[in-house]
Amino acid sequence: MEVRVRYAPSPTGLQHIGGVRTALFNYFFARANGGKFILRVEDTDRERYSDESLQDLYDTLEWLGISWDEGPIVGGPKGPYIQSERFNLYKEYAEQLVREGKAYYCYCTPERLDALRAQQQKEKSKQQGYDRHCRNLSEEERKALEEQGLKPVIRLKVPTGGKTSFHDVLMGEITRKNSDVSPDPVLLKSDGFPTYHLANVIDDHLMGITHIMRAQEWIPSGPLHVILYEAFGWEPPLYCHLPMVMGKDGQKLSKRHGSTSVKDFRAKGYLPEALMNYVSLVGWSYDGQREFFSKEDFEQLFTLEKINKAPGVFDYKKLDWFNGQYIRQKSDEELLTLLMPYMVNAGFVSASPSEEEKQKMLSLTAVAKERLKTLSDIVELSRFLFETPKYEDLSLFATKGVDLATATKGLEQAFEVLKKGFAEHKEFEAIEEEIAAVAQQMEIKINGVFMPLRVAITGSTVSPPLFDSINLLGLDETYKRIETALGLLKSEV
Ligand code: GLU
Ligand code: ZN
Repeated sequence: MEVRVRYAPSPTGLQHIGGVRTALFNYFFARANGGKFILRVEDTDRERYSDESLQDLYDTLEWLGISWDEGPIVGGPKGPYIQSERFNLYKEYAEQLVREGKAYYCYCTPERLDALRAQQQKEKSKQQGYDRHCRNLSEEERKALEEQGLKPVIRLKVPTGGKTSFHDVLMGEITRKNSDVSPDPVLLKSDGFPTYHLANVIDDHLMGITHIMRAQEWIPSGPLHVILYEAFGWEPPLYCHLPMVMGKDGQKLSKRHGSTSVKDFRAKGYLPEALMNYVSLVGWSYDGQREFFSKEDFEQLFTLEKINKAPGVFDYKKLDWFNGQYIRQKSDEELLTLLMPYMVNAGFVSASPSEEEKQKMLSLTAVAKERLKTLSDIVELSRFLFETPKYEDLSLFATKGVDLATATKGLEQAFEVLKKGFAEHKEFEAIEEEIAAVAQQMEIKINGVFMPLRVAITGSTVSPPLFDSINLLGLDETYKRIETALGLLKSEV
């Protein structure tokens, strides 16, 4: 049996970490088994649909390097793969169920259903949801309602007794009493649009899907889908509901925890290979040890058995760590190409720099590499090279236990040491030691002298290593900045 799996998102928002993990697992599983990965766009909810979301879906998968064997754009033998292009088909199947007595027309008006809901709430009734009012309408009653011009929906006849079970590869046997399944959900709306349940089941069957890997929050829909498969006389695919992705606090990952959309991560400068690597480890592990996997590794090694049952925690710090690792694997040239858009965007350089500028930025890249967690970090890390500091916040010169007056004194002495050292062509290490000695003499921490120096030279408390920064800036500019800073400080203390 050929493995056929699908990622079936609804384009009603940006692709987020949880969705992308589902896509990746399906894709890896298809590749590892020589099967097909299908992309299906579930755009039945026309109110929440947006073109932007659909574009974001394509952009995200492309950025991650995930291609689909069948789906929109590329087509395939079971298309179309966009549900809004298949609406006639759903209607036919729903009507077939009505003819076979497995579904029925319901003429209840929204007003009646609202009143019903209000009453159920008021009475705190155990019976929630539709009251199956139209389940047994006679043909005459039905005709009379049609003649009033009422447009019906089609509802599924959920059995009122018995149980429904399905097997989940991870969770094992899942069984629900049919009386706990939503009473006769709508399959086809009065405007002829299918609901998610109908379209999803029909498409998984017609597209020959063998395994359904999707988020755990779809488990409650499982029994209903199985009832629907049975009504059609179809064999349900194998289910594999994936563990939830949570924040560190044990709550479902959401905007409260930080960015969740891939678009945001991409904009901040996370590398696709880092995001893919880390996201795939949230809920899957190879041997509990190995951490680094390329796309090709996952394509070979991925198995369902190694998916964890327990929810996975998405740790932003760990992602930063992975990203830093992948950044440091790049050559300076590769990394500069990735950093350029951020520097162009910040107005630091033009998109087509001169050869001299390029060399300068290559040196910058080499020294910044160790300190980058994300590509966008380059902006703050290199601002000093492109903008003269304004020293608006003099308190940056002071450090813990070192007031501004002391910091000023330290900076003044360190400056003398620095100038002398460079004039005598001393090694960086030697100059560094002499500056440290200044701090010792003053009986303050080393940072109490190095920080004012850093702030004077770069205008910031974060920068590439000090001597690298001086090197990039040049001695003239470095001295000029220190003098300016000293002038300001002295007028202040
Ligand atoms: N369209 C559904 C979603 O957005 C698909 C759920 C499923 O995979 O069955 O998650
Ligand atoms: Zn009804």
